[in-house]
Amino acid sequence: MRHPLVMGNWKLNGSRHMVNELIDGLRKEVSSVDGCDIAIAPPFIYLDQAKHQASGSHIMLGAQNVDINLSGAFTGETSANMLKDIGMKYVIIGHSERRTYHKESDEVIAEKFAVVKEAGLIPVLCIGETEAENEAGQTEAVCAKQLDAVLKTMGAPAFGNSVIAYEPVWAIGTGKSATPAQAQAVHKFIRDHIAKHDAKVAAQVIIQYGGSVNASNAAELFSQPDIDGALVGGASLKADAFAVIVKAA
Ligand code: 13P
Repeated sequence: MRHPLVMGNWKLNGSRHMVNELIDGLRKEVSSVDGCDIAIAPPFIYLDQAKHQASGSHIMLGAQNVDINLSGAFTGETSANMLKDIGMKYVIIGHSERRTYHKESDEVIAEKFAVVKEAGLIPVLCIGETEAENEAGQTEAVCAKQLDAVLKTMGAPAFGNSVIAYEPVWAIGTGKSATPAQAQAVHKFIRDHIAKHDAKVAAQVIIQYGGSVNASNAAELFSQPDIDGALVGGASLKADAFAVIVKAA
Protein backbone atom coordinates (compact mmCIF):
# COMPACT_ATOMS: atom_id res chain seq x y z
CA MET A 1 0.00 0.00 0.00
CA ARG A 2 1.13 3.54 -0.72
CA HIS A 3 1.85 5.75 2.22
CA PRO A 4 1.15 9.50 1.87
CA LEU A 5 4.09 11.88 2.33
CA VAL A 6 3.61 15.47 3.46
CA MET A 7 6.80 17.46 2.96
CA GLY A 8 7.49 21.09 3.74
CA ASN A 9 9.64 22.95 1.22
CA TRP A 10 10.88 25.97 3.14
CA LYS A 11 12.51 27.44 0.01
CA LEU A 12 14.71 30.46 0.89
CA ASN A 13 13.22 30.99 4.34
CA GLY A 14 14.45 30.32 7.86
CA SER A 15 16.98 31.13 10.55
CA ARG A 16 18.55 29.19 13.41
CA HIS A 17 15.77 30.50 15.60
CA MET A 18 13.05 29.42 13.18
CA VAL A 19 14.51 25.90 12.87
CA ASN A 20 14.31 25.60 16.66
CA GLU A 21 10.80 26.99 16.98
CA LEU A 22 9.23 25.25 14.02
CA ILE A 23 10.64 21.80 14.69
CA ASP A 24 9.76 22.07 18.39
CA GLY A 25 6.22 23.05 17.39
CA LEU A 26 5.96 20.18 14.92
CA ARG A 27 7.28 17.65 17.43
CA LYS A 28 4.41 18.58 19.74
CA GLU A 29 1.72 18.72 17.05
CA VAL A 30 2.48 15.65 14.93
CA SER A 31 4.07 13.23 17.37
CA SER A 32 1.14 10.83 17.29
CA VAL A 33 0.26 10.91 13.57
CA ASP A 34 0.22 7.45 12.02
CA GLY A 35 -0.02 6.45 8.38
CA CYS A 36 1.63 9.57 6.96
CA ASP A 37 5.33 10.22 6.42
CA ILE A 38 6.45 13.71 7.41
CA ALA A 39 9.47 15.58 6.09
CA ILE A 40 10.83 19.10 5.94
CA ALA A 41 13.36 20.63 3.56
CA PRO A 42 14.98 23.71 5.11
CA PRO A 43 17.78 25.59 3.28
CA PHE A 44 21.10 23.70 3.05
CA ILE A 45 22.80 25.74 5.75
CA TYR A 46 20.26 24.64 8.37
CA LEU A 47 19.98 20.96 7.41
CA ASP A 48 22.44 19.68 9.98
CA GLN A 49 20.85 21.74 12.76
CA ALA A 50 17.38 20.60 11.68
CA LYS A 51 18.49 16.96 11.64
CA HIS A 52 19.70 17.23 15.24
CA GLN A 53 16.61 19.14 16.30
CA ALA A 54 14.33 16.46 14.80
CA SER A 55 16.29 13.51 16.19
CA GLY A 56 14.13 10.96 17.99
CA SER A 57 10.97 12.22 16.23
CA HIS A 58 9.50 10.85 13.02
CA ILE A 59 10.15 14.09 11.15
CA MET A 60 12.49 13.28 8.27
CA LEU A 61 14.76 15.67 6.44
CA GLY A 62 15.20 16.55 2.80
CA ALA A 63 17.35 18.92 0.76
CA GLN A 64 15.98 21.32 -1.84
CA ASN A 65 18.60 20.64 -4.49
CA VAL A 66 21.80 18.72 -5.24
CA ASP A 67 24.70 18.93 -7.70
CA ILE A 68 25.22 16.31 -10.42
CA ASN A 69 28.90 15.95 -9.41
CA LEU A 70 30.13 13.96 -6.44
CA SER A 71 33.32 15.90 -5.59
CA GLY A 72 35.96 18.16 -7.03
CA ALA A 73 36.25 21.69 -8.36
CA PHE A 74 32.60 22.75 -8.27
CA THR A 75 32.55 25.86 -6.10
CA GLY A 76 29.40 26.38 -4.10
CA GLU A 77 27.86 22.96 -4.75
CA THR A 78 26.67 20.14 -2.47
CA SER A 79 26.82 16.46 -3.44
CA ALA A 80 24.32 13.66 -2.90
CA ASN A 81 26.87 11.76 -0.81
CA MET A 82 27.27 14.77 1.51
CA LEU A 83 23.49 14.89 1.96
CA LYS A 84 23.47 11.19 2.75
CA ASP A 85 26.39 11.71 5.18
CA ILE A 86 24.41 14.22 7.28
CA GLY A 87 21.33 12.00 7.46
CA MET A 88 19.07 13.34 4.74
CA LYS A 89 16.38 11.03 3.36
CA TYR A 90 14.89 13.04 0.46
CA VAL A 91 16.15 15.45 -2.20
CA ILE A 92 13.76 17.72 -4.09
CA ILE A 93 14.81 17.98 -7.72
CA GLY A 94 13.40 19.82 -10.72
CA HIS A 95 11.39 22.35 -8.75
CA SER A 96 9.89 24.89 -11.15
CA GLU A 97 11.80 27.67 -9.40
CA ARG A 98 15.07 25.91 -10.28
CA ARG A 99 13.87 25.17 -13.81
CA THR A 100 13.04 28.89 -14.23
CA TYR A 101 15.70 30.80 -12.28
CA HIS A 102 18.59 28.36 -12.70
CA LYS A 103 17.68 27.19 -16.20
CA GLU A 104 17.72 23.51 -15.19
CA SER A 105 16.83 21.33 -18.18
CA ASP A 106 15.00 18.00 -18.15
CA GLU A 107 18.36 16.36 -18.93
CA VAL A 108 20.15 17.93 -15.94
CA ILE A 109 17.22 16.99 -13.72
CA ALA A 110 17.43 13.39 -14.95
CA GLU A 111 21.15 13.40 -14.02
CA LYS A 112 20.27 14.70 -10.56
CA PHE A 113 17.65 11.94 -10.22
CA ALA A 114 20.39 9.40 -11.00
CA VAL A 115 22.94 10.74 -8.47
CA VAL A 116 20.27 10.92 -5.76
CA LYS A 117 19.27 7.28 -6.36
CA GLU A 118 22.90 6.16 -6.49
CA ALA A 119 23.53 7.78 -3.10
CA GLY A 120 20.62 5.80 -1.63
CA LEU A 121 18.43 8.88 -1.18
CA ILE A 122 14.84 9.36 -2.34
CA PRO A 123 14.29 11.87 -5.14
CA VAL A 124 11.20 14.07 -5.06
CA LEU A 125 10.85 14.87 -8.76
CA CYS A 126 8.79 18.02 -9.37
CA ILE A 127 6.91 18.31 -12.63
CA GLY A 128 4.10 20.56 -13.82
CA GLU A 129 2.92 22.98 -16.47
CA THR A 130 2.89 26.77 -16.59
CA GLU A 131 -0.32 28.77 -16.83
CA ALA A 132 0.19 29.35 -20.58
CA GLU A 133 0.76 25.62 -21.15
CA ASN A 134 -2.32 24.84 -19.08
CA GLU A 135 -4.46 27.23 -21.11
CA ALA A 136 -3.09 25.77 -24.34
CA GLY A 137 -4.22 22.28 -23.24
CA GLN A 138 -0.62 21.04 -22.93
CA THR A 139 -0.67 19.86 -19.31
CA GLU A 140 -0.38 16.16 -20.11
CA ALA A 141 2.22 16.67 -22.84
CA VAL A 142 4.42 18.76 -20.52
CA CYS A 143 4.18 16.26 -17.65
CA ALA A 144 4.89 13.36 -20.02
CA LYS A 145 7.98 15.11 -21.41
CA GLN A 146 9.32 15.86 -17.93
CA LEU A 147 8.75 12.25 -16.84
CA ASP A 148 10.19 10.83 -20.06
CA ALA A 149 13.54 12.52 -19.46
CA VAL A 150 13.95 10.31 -16.37
CA LEU A 151 12.25 7.24 -17.87
CA LYS A 152 14.60 7.37 -20.87
CA THR A 153 17.81 7.42 -18.84
CA MET A 154 16.79 5.43 -15.76
CA GLY A 155 13.84 3.25 -16.81
CA ALA A 156 10.58 2.85 -14.90
CA PRO A 157 12.06 0.75 -12.05
CA ALA A 158 13.90 3.89 -10.91
CA PHE A 159 10.52 5.24 -9.82
CA GLY A 160 10.26 2.44 -7.27
CA ASN A 161 10.89 4.09 -3.90
CA SER A 162 10.82 7.55 -5.50
CA VAL A 163 8.39 10.43 -5.18
CA ILE A 164 6.82 12.56 -7.89
CA ALA A 165 5.38 15.96 -6.99
CA TYR A 166 2.85 17.37 -9.44
CA GLU A 167 3.14 21.12 -8.99
CA PRO A 168 1.28 23.21 -11.56
CA VAL A 169 3.40 26.36 -11.82
CA TRP A 170 0.30 28.60 -11.85
CA ALA A 171 -0.71 27.22 -8.43
CA ILE A 172 2.63 27.80 -6.66
CA GLY A 173 2.51 30.66 -4.19
CA THR A 174 -0.57 32.13 -5.84
CA GLY A 175 -3.26 31.02 -3.40
CA LYS A 176 -4.94 29.43 -6.43
CA SER A 177 -4.71 25.67 -5.87
CA ALA A 178 -5.78 23.22 -8.54
CA THR A 179 -9.21 21.84 -7.69
CA PRO A 180 -9.20 18.29 -6.30
CA ALA A 181 -10.75 17.05 -9.56
CA GLN A 182 -8.20 18.89 -11.72
CA ALA A 183 -5.29 17.56 -9.68
CA GLN A 184 -6.70 14.02 -9.57
CA ALA A 185 -7.01 13.95 -13.38
CA VAL A 186 -3.32 14.86 -13.81
CA HIS A 187 -2.19 12.49 -11.03
CA LYS A 188 -4.04 9.66 -12.75
CA PHE A 189 -2.42 10.61 -16.06
CA ILE A 190 1.03 10.51 -14.40
CA ARG A 191 0.38 7.11 -12.82
CA ASP A 192 -0.99 5.71 -16.10
CA HIS A 193 2.05 7.08 -17.94
CA ILE A 194 4.40 5.19 -15.61
CA ALA A 195 2.14 2.12 -15.83
CA LYS A 196 2.73 1.93 -19.58
CA HIS A 197 6.29 0.97 -18.63
CA ASP A 198 5.75 -0.83 -15.31
CA ALA A 199 2.33 -1.32 -13.71
CA LYS A 200 3.71 -2.47 -10.37
CA VAL A 201 5.98 0.53 -9.95
CA ALA A 202 3.14 2.84 -11.03
CA ALA A 203 0.86 1.45 -8.35
CA GLN A 204 3.53 2.08 -5.70
CA VAL A 205 4.96 5.47 -6.63
CA ILE A 206 3.98 8.32 -4.34
CA ILE A 207 2.52 11.25 -6.29
CA GLN A 208 2.27 14.38 -4.17
CA TYR A 209 0.32 17.47 -5.12
CA GLY A 210 1.93 20.89 -4.62
CA GLY A 211 0.68 24.42 -5.16
CA SER A 212 -1.13 26.54 -2.57
CA VAL A 213 -1.94 23.59 -0.30
CA ASN A 214 -3.18 24.92 3.05
CA ALA A 215 -5.03 23.85 6.18
CA SER A 216 -8.41 24.39 4.49
CA ASN A 217 -7.99 22.63 1.15
CA ALA A 218 -5.70 19.70 2.11
CA ALA A 219 -8.34 17.17 3.20
CA GLU A 220 -10.32 17.42 -0.01
CA LEU A 221 -7.20 17.11 -2.15
CA PHE A 222 -6.06 14.05 -0.16
CA SER A 223 -9.45 12.36 -0.58
CA GLN A 224 -8.63 11.83 -4.26
CA PRO A 225 -7.44 8.29 -5.04
CA ASP A 226 -4.19 9.23 -6.78
CA ILE A 227 -3.09 12.10 -4.51
CA ASP A 228 -0.58 10.79 -1.95
CA GLY A 229 0.13 13.78 0.26
CA ALA A 230 1.61 17.15 -0.61
CA LEU A 231 4.71 19.23 -1.16
CA VAL A 232 3.89 22.34 0.82
CA GLY A 233 5.55 25.75 0.50
CA GLY A 234 4.14 28.73 2.40
CA ALA A 235 1.93 26.75 4.78
CA SER A 236 4.92 24.65 5.92
CA LEU A 237 6.44 27.71 7.62
CA LYS A 238 3.86 27.63 10.41
CA ALA A 239 3.80 24.56 12.69
CA ASP A 240 0.04 24.69 13.31
CA ALA A 241 -0.94 24.97 9.61
CA PHE A 242 1.56 22.27 8.59
CA ALA A 243 0.27 19.97 11.33
CA VAL A 244 -3.32 20.33 10.08
CA ILE A 245 -2.15 19.30 6.60
CA VAL A 246 -0.23 16.30 8.00
CA LYS A 247 -3.27 15.19 9.97
CA ALA A 248 -5.49 15.54 6.88
CA ALA A 249 -3.27 13.00 5.08
P1 13P B 1 3.15 26.97 -2.04
O1 13P B 1 2.59 25.93 -1.13
O2 13P B 1 3.68 28.18 -1.30
O3 13P B 1 2.21 27.33 -3.15
O4 13P B 1 4.47 26.35 -2.75
C1 13P B 1 4.36 25.08 -3.32
C2 13P B 1 5.71 24.62 -3.69
O5 13P B 1 6.35 25.15 -4.56
C3 13P B 1 6.27 23.50 -2.91
O6 13P B 1 7.42 23.00 -3.50
